[in-house]
Amino acid sequence: MENGKLKTKFIFITGGVVSSLGKGIASSALGVLLQARGYRVRLRKMDPYLNVDPGTMSPTQHGEVFVTDDGAETDLDLGHYERFTGVSAKKTDSVSAGRIYSYVLNKERHGDYLGATAQVIPHVTDEIKEFIRADLDKEDFCICEIGGTVGDIESLPFLEAIRQLRNEEGADRCMFIHVTLLPFVKMAGELKTKPTQHSVKELLSVGIQPDMLLCRSECPIPDNERRKIALFCNVKPECIIEALDCNIIYQIPINYHEQGIDERVVNYFKLPAAPEPDLSKWHDIVARIKEAEGTVTIAVVGKYISLLDSYKSLAEAIAHGGIANKAAVKIKWVDAADFDEDPELLSQQLQGVDGVLVPGGFGERGTEGKIAAVKFAREKNIPYFGICFGMQLAVIEAVRNLGGLPDASTSEFGASPHCVIGLITEWIKNGEVEIRKSNGDLGGTMRLGAYPSNIKKGTKAYAAYGQKVIHERHRHRYEVNTNYAKNYEQAGLVFSGMSPDDSLPEIIERADHPWFVGVQFHPELKSRPLEPHPLFTAFIAAAIKKSRLV
Ligand code: GLN
Repeated sequence: MENGKLKTKFIFITGGVVSSLGKGIASSALGVLLQARGYRVRLRKMDPYLNVDPGTMSPTQHGEVFVTDDGAETDLDLGHYERFTGVSAKKTDSVSAGRIYSYVLNKERHGDYLGATAQVIPHVTDEIKEFIRADLDKEDFCICEIGGTVGDIESLPFLEAIRQLRNEEGADRCMFIHVTLLPFVKMAGELKTKPTQHSVKELLSVGIQPDMLLCRSECPIPDNERRKIALFCNVKPECIIEALDCNIIYQIPINYHEQGIDERVVNYFKLPAAPEPDLSKWHDIVARIKEAEGTVTIAVVGKYISLLDSYKSLAEAIAHGGIANKAAVKIKWVDAADFDEDPELLSQQLQGVDGVLVPGGFGERGTEGKIAAVKFAREKNIPYFGICFGMQLAVIEAVRNLGGLPDASTSEFGASPHCVIGLITEWIKNGEVEIRKSNGDLGGTMRLGAYPSNIKKGTKAYAAYGQKVIHERHRHRYEVNTNYAKNYEQAGLVFSGMSPDDSLPEIIERADHPWFVGVQFHPELKSRPLEPHPLFTAFIAAAIKKSRLV
């Protein structure tokens, strides 16, 4: 703040031509470059769908649900923002059209509009502008990404809101960047600029003139095409930025810098272009990836593998474990639901892998296959990492096969005589009791966000973390039922992490196995390329050790 006035500058990122252009990564890379120039950044996402948040959507529709420390269920792009910039996202960094409308409707019911007709302009657009400006103080830049593709009906209120915001804050505080695609037409041997021209026209029709175009392309943009785009789209030729396809995502900030994006942005805002940003950390990561020695294969046994975005943070965290160990990691995706009929067959898929990971999940379909995967890893001494559901199923497997209860189950699958995993309706958050109804709403009612756990010394968890208290992010309804402590002991399960009041097991492991760890939380959400998560680092290290034994 300066004299009570917000000084943060806004950069709005829109997308055109097609979806899946990587706006999230583009926004993150720009964030990295501005940070490297010494600026403080926040990144935000506005999603045009009508769900209040993505929490109730299937991951195969929308990709993973990313959970923030403060317990918001958000779009997976927030994961990219965190991984690249290292800035932990907050509830105030993600909003959907559904949430905006719910605010407007609540205000209308409350009588806040004093007799006025509630309308998209101004009520919905005001609510969007309030979201954009909220909770900013020390940030020099707020990069706001608008989900969807320009031209969609749903994104119109967001475009209108940013148009208004630029008028209110001034062009010197707001910049519009449009990400587009230049398709390469093989028959003509040319990159085509027309879809970009049309997309910019679409933006102009809602009153937005982009200041910069970030053009995704599979080959370099010839000067002639660059001039053409500049002329037709009314953008300076030097502000047509080439964004070539790139296999290593952590190289993208370096590539963008070479294209001059950060220099053009600081020029736009009349900020000094010198000194050059220091990108040595990113060069180091890329070098580690390129110079990886040896490859390990990790089987991920899940249910949502038809859309790999369902496991975005997980795949990145596994890659970070590889970066930390200077090894390449190949992920073998195994669809557990294919093995419901004959779960034992799943073990054929696991022959020769160096590690098995069962990730988070919901519902009964596919679980027998996942349990078979746990058993295989346990019996064959293959490093095993169970995350959330993968931890709960590891407990069920152990109690069924070693703990004397062959019918052990979870109440998630309905009533059963021995629910070793059960629904919790009361728990402690920040010293207060949180209460849920067992038949209440599904949206936003899980145990969500960061919670502390105490780690027992002398365990694998302690060896990985090297500290007694950790904070990790949760997203689940069910918990290990400690009434079965005797069966757990008989099954050889060690509880190496517990909630501070000692009531909820947060980490389980086996002392009789090279590396078998299950966690009730989602460590993948906190892993970053510059700070790989200790459990992923330890898991991949164990997989490397296993691969060398064979
Ligand atoms: N379905 C389980 C629960 O709700 C696990 C959830 C998860 O893996 N995120 O407790």
